[in-house]
Amino acid sequence: MRQMIMGNWKMHGLRGSGERLAREIAKGADPACVSRDLVIAPPFTLLSSLAPLLSPHGIGLAAQDCHEDPDGAHTGDIAAPMLADLGVSHVILGHSERRQNHHESSALICRKVEAAQKSGLIPVLCVGETEADKAADRVEDVLGRQIEESLPRGFSGIVAYEPVWAIGTGQAATEQDISDRMAFLHAAIARHLETDDKATRILYGGSVKPEDAASILAVPGVGGVLVGGASLTAESFLGIARAG
Ligand code: PEP
Repeated sequence: MRQMIMGNWKMHGLRGSGERLAREIAKGADPACVSRDLVIAPPFTLLSSLAPLLSPHGIGLAAQDCHEDPDGAHTGDIAAPMLADLGVSHVILGHSERRQNHHESSALICRKVEAAQKSGLIPVLCVGETEADKAADRVEDVLGRQIEESLPRGFSGIVAYEPVWAIGTGQAATEQDISDRMAFLHAAIARHLETDDKATRILYGGSVKPEDAASILAVPGVGGVLVGGASLTAESFLGIARAG
């Protein structure tokens, strides 16, 4: 399975700067230089203008959330079929910033995953422990519960392991920690879905930078990386995509 490099732009980018960055990334994403799958997750407002810039270069387009219903009276929300209609291929769900800032529960996230799949989108489900979970030695309990509660039975998507304490802090998890968590998550997902334990691609996310990308991508079980801050320049995003 090819590794995936996914850039989460979060709430960054106006039309001019976002389209410029997408063009720069597309220009540098020649398959001769990049042998990994690339996906960009811009804000909702840039999805339709980025679709024609990225898809001719084989770069996937992701949304950062979707609603669990296909339509309805939900002011301000965006449904999965609307994303599919724009040419979106993936959707990030259950990111820790949504779990924290929007109080999203694993049960709700599970319904969003099902809605995404029903619309033909590939869900990228985020799980991860907080600093307090780590200090209390309950990392595996927390991750195990998030997998059981957020992954519907027929899940066929991507999981991103993102320790909350590593996001935006400049402090990536150690290779040993990533390796241990990958082994735990592969086994937990396989048990939950009753599949073979390498069937689901698992990304690592949390302060990945070009200089440590090669060693993180070489950790056994890592199916790619989810990149926040370092996805905001073409140089650092492509540096990660070409690492190793
Ligand atoms: C993220 O928010 O998904 C993320 C990985 O952010 P950063 O790379 O900035 O830590």
